[in-house]
Amino acid sequence: MSFAKLGLQPPLTQTLAELGYAAPTAVQQQAVPAVLAGRDVLAAAQTGTGKTAAFVLPLLQMLAATPAAGPAPRAVVLVPTRELAEQVLASCQRYGAGLPLRCYALYGGVSHGPQLTALREGVDLLVATPGRLIDLFGKGELRLREVRHVVLDEADRMLDLGFADDLATVFQALPRERQVLLFSATFADAVRALARARLRKPLSIEA
Ligand code: AMP
Repeated sequence: MSFAKLGLQPPLTQTLAELGYAAPTAVQQQAVPAVLAGRDVLAAAQTGTGKTAAFVLPLLQMLAATPAAGPAPRAVVLVPTRELAEQVLASCQRYGAGLPLRCYALYGGVSHGPQLTALREGVDLLVATPGRLIDLFGKGELRLREVRHVVLDEADRMLDLGFADDLATVFQALPRERQVLLFSATFADAVRALARARLRKPLSIEA
């Protein structure tokens, strides 16, 4: 199995070859074609399975295929912690090196200034913890109407950390036409309920 057979094209395939990725992992094989086809995805995947690339690669390809109408983000990846936000951002930048896309990470505990500047200059793919995202959205500094793709990464940890209400607020602000991808290591009742409420006919994946 190759990345090209999953529907990925240059420059992404070129970048992956340069990174030494010989073949897609199990979760990538299942998720990439589904995401490219526009489907919602519900994936059971632990850290280390290649789950980040499973959503970042197809999102980057789709974003690069359509021009941005303005500075507002077109894809949002919600994560439970600042550390994960930084890791996902690093993956976006590594895989997107050959593409004219802007990736940025928002999280709490740091000053607003640089984040506001980045949002005003324009972001295609935004990685964010729910608290800071809602903070800036509430202040009118973040426009969510252009978002077409939403990822809930480590959804179980987001719910464990008490982000359920924040997630509901975010979904309220999103357009109806959107693709939702949910990744979680575990599937407690609360994660299943979140998936039922937010995903439309998802492809279920077990990595
Ligand atoms: P993740 O599960 O997203 O935390 O990724 C685990 C690690 O696997 C990361 O360091 C990735 O750079 C690496 N990785 C992801 N996909 C592949 C692949 N297809 N081949 C080799 N390494 C990969």
